[in-house]
Formats: sequence, C-alpha cells, structure tokens
Amino acid sequence: MFLEPRLKNTSHKKGWIEVICGSMFSGKTEELIRRLNRARIANLKVEIYKPAIDKRYHDTEVVSHNSNAVASTPVPSSLNILLMSQDADVVGIDEAQFFDAEVVYVCETLAQRGVRVIVAGLDMDYLGKPFGPMPALMAIAEYVTKVNAICMVCGDLATHSFRKVSDNSQVMLGEKDTYEARCRYCFNDGMATEKN
Ligand code: ZN
Repeated sequence: MFLEPRLKNTSHKKGWIEVICGSMFSGKTEELIRRLNRARIANLKVEIYKPAIDKRYHDTEVVSHNSNAVASTPVPSSLNILLMSQDADVVGIDEAQFFDAEVVYVCETLAQRGVRVIVAGLDMDYLGKPFGPMPALMAIAEYVTKVNAICMVCGDLATHSFRKVSDNSQVMLGEKDTYEARCRYCFNDGMATEKN
C-alpha cells in the first residue's frame, strides 16, 4: 500500500507526481480517493479535476464504482488545472487517459510549484494499447502504482479492459454492461473470437 513520503526539509515545499493506473474495475479511483482523504486529514488543501468528457454518474463528482464520492471539477482542457489550482497543496486528476498530451506539462509544472499531484487513469484502452498521455505520465512520475482487477472469466488477476459490445471508438464510456476486466489470456481469447 502506498504511504506518503516524509520530507526531511519542511521549510521548502517540494512537490512530486504519483500515478495510479490499471484496467477498469481495478480500484484506481478508490485508491485516488483514499490518498486524497488522507491528505485532507493532514489539513492540506485538496483540489480534484477530471476531463469534462467523463459525464458518467454526476457532473461535479469523482465517483468510483463503490459510490465513494468526492466533489471534483470537470475541465475542458488540462491547462485549466494550472489556472484553477493556484493555492492547492494536493491536486488529484481522475480519468487522466482522456486528457490531452499537455497534461504532462501541467503535472510537471504543479510538482515544480511544490504541489503533490496524484493522477489516476486507465493504462490501456479496449485494444490493449497504451492509453493517451498515461505512458508519458508514468515515465515522469516519482511513484507509479499499478492496480489489478479480477478477471471476470477465469478469476486470475486482470490487467485488460475487454469491451463486450462492438464499437471502434477509443472513447466509449460505460460500466458493467460495456466492459469486463480480463487477464491477458482471456482478453486475447475474446479479441480473437470477435474478429472471426
Ligand atoms: Zn482470465
């Protein structure tokens, strides 16, 4: 489990970047919420953002699958986060895979300002390919946590998000009816079946 690092020199505020990634149903958002709640307990000023594209459930909340809701601000582009989080100690970013490539610059700028940045997102899309800015975010982060789901076919650890309905767009929002967490083997089985 991720524990917050202790900083030796508290007179100089140092920021850093944490990435929480994994497939659908892997508990990414729950982990993001857990870390943000602990920061709140430490009396830090916490701001949470998500891309305006993600309109599942509710417009102004980061909502995980177990309904552990945290109020968040939908933003049209990642640059909005820089302007809006002027006095935050901790910035959480959910569904980061849907952001533009500039989210990398945004996270680096915030960290340099002394902000702790916690980013959660899907590491792979429905084809099993690296998703949007996530690979770059993982590369520049101090801490990367990859969380796994359970394969809904065989019960092993799941790393992939299998889309149960045929649709070729990378962005397709949905939950239990649309996606299934799968291990590599069951994911590839499903993809092979779909092509035939
Ligand atoms: Zn499996």
